[in-house]
Amino acid sequence: MTNAEKLKIPRQKMPGQEPKERIKNFKEVPFGYTPQMAMTEAKRCLQCKKALCVGGCPVEVHIPEFVQMIAQGDFIGAAKELKKTNSLPAVCGRVCPQEDQCEKVCVLAKKYQPVAIGNLERFAADYERNQGEVEIPEIAPLTGKKVAIVGAGPAGLTVAGDLVKLGHQVTIFEALHKTGGVLVYGIPEFRLPKAIVQAEVDFLIKLGVEVKTSQVIGKLHTIDELFEQGYHAIFIGTGAGLPNFMNIPGENLNGIYSSNEYLTRSNLMKAYDFPEYDTPIFSGKNVAVLGGGNTAMDSVRTALRLGAENGYIVYRRSKTEMPARIEEIHHAEEEGVEFHFLTTPVKYMGNEYGWVTGMECLRMQLGEPDASGRRRPVPVEGSNFIMEVDTVVVAIGNSSNPLVPQTTTGLEVNKWGNITADPETGQTSRKGVWAGGDIVTGGATVILAAGAGKKAARDIDKYLRSL
Ligand SMILES: Cc1cc2nc3c(=O)[nH]c(=O)nc-3n(C[C@H](O)[C@H](O)[C@H](O)COP(=O)(O)OP(=O)(O)OC[C@H]3O[C@@H](n4cnc5c(N)ncnc54)[C@H](O)[C@@H]3O)c2cc1C
Ligand code: SF4
Repeated sequence: MTNAEKLKIPRQKMPGQEPKERIKNFKEVPFGYTPQMAMTEAKRCLQCKKALCVGGCPVEVHIPEFVQMIAQGDFIGAAKELKKTNSLPAVCGRVCPQEDQCEKVCVLAKKYQPVAIGNLERFAADYERNQGEVEIPEIAPLTGKKVAIVGAGPAGLTVAGDLVKLGHQVTIFEALHKTGGVLVYGIPEFRLPKAIVQAEVDFLIKLGVEVKTSQVIGKLHTIDELFEQGYHAIFIGTGAGLPNFMNIPGENLNGIYSSNEYLTRSNLMKAYDFPEYDTPIFSGKNVAVLGGGNTAMDSVRTALRLGAENGYIVYRRSKTEMPARIEEIHHAEEEGVEFHFLTTPVKYMGNEYGWVTGMECLRMQLGEPDASGRRRPVPVEGSNFIMEVDTVVVAIGNSSNPLVPQTTTGLEVNKWGNITADPETGQTSRKGVWAGGDIVTGGATVILAAGAGKKAARDIDKYLRSL
């Protein structure tokens, strides 16, 4: 096929549930490509000699190679190619911000629509999983070295997978009763089905990884105690799960949640099935979600599925500055979410029973760019108005949980409480201890956490072999 013929093929749209239907359920929104659609989409790729898309991927997935395999109908080959550099392709194909990464720099993006790299990644990984047994790779001879991984998010799971394949004995310690980190407690089922994350964890268990849940490191055992128990190396991947609040009057009223609590109750503790499951969640009629990131979109779309009549996004900047993925904003708009831009709450109001009934808000205008490069929101004097709400979800970002650094001697942290680690190796200030993912960078992305895990695993392996 000539390039001119390729350019005539339109980008294949992924089919999915209609907005009216999907807000009544928690099932995944897009259905995924059929093999025919995937092959057609893959044929659009020009197979550039100097593939810019690869440079746009934080873990440098061999994009033209796996796309070519799909075009030729070798779907299992494509999945294997992906896994050479990305341990979680079914997850990343769904949640990576491709529009800011590989697809943004695809040569087609300038004049045409970029190759749908993310959709193709998802297709190949799903195809392999749905084929039944995923092939177990060869495990290197056992080294007799033990590694403890703290936290079962994308960073920890990646380190576990890479090290077990190299012959080390790996144990994951996870604080929650389920593994997956934000992938299960934060990102809702309608964006990332839990079964996909569970399949990744089951695969690790098959490879020989031991998984211990409900183990809060820093409380149950300290890092020092893990060394005393015979672990030769420890990786800390505890994420950034400490919610930030607005710190404005009335924040303690009932009906005001952190997004962590709201999403964890719904996603991980099946509150949406109350009273079948014994976790309650207040399903308000007028739900305001504060923030403009993926967490805010996930919270407001969850609220609609829990029965809210009105789901509001209240964001202090404008749409252009929203950090959420374009697809998530688009899906939220389609589902009827009302966006209140350039608005910030300054006070909550409540009733005699202590439940929130409204928010006093201020209008904002955009001033000069701040340190993040985005224009700074400045309050408009006297623009106060009241918004009637019965539930508020605060989704304005997370900080690092201080528990592990506070209970570990010699572990350096920066001024935000993130663990200091070498960006190339993940080594911390403490010998034998590595860290990666959100606990080092602050809230970032799945692929960056998994990429940090890969680098750390390589360095831990080198260290263990030198002992
Ligand atoms: C709601 C939401 C939506 C998001 N959407 C996207 C998206 O669409 N795309 C994207 O790329 N990124 C998204 N992100 C960001 C992304 O999920 C994170 O950057 C990523 O999960 C970080 O991985 P991690 O392994 O560092 O930490 P986490 O995923 O946070 O996992 C850390 C794990 O460590 C456990 N832990 C914490 N403390 C301890 C302890 N003391 N002992 C034992 N275990 C402990 C936690 O329970 C958790 O399971 C989203 C984040 C949120 C909150
Ligand atoms: S830049 Fe786009 S067209 Fe070129 S190889 Fe990458 S995906 Fe294919």
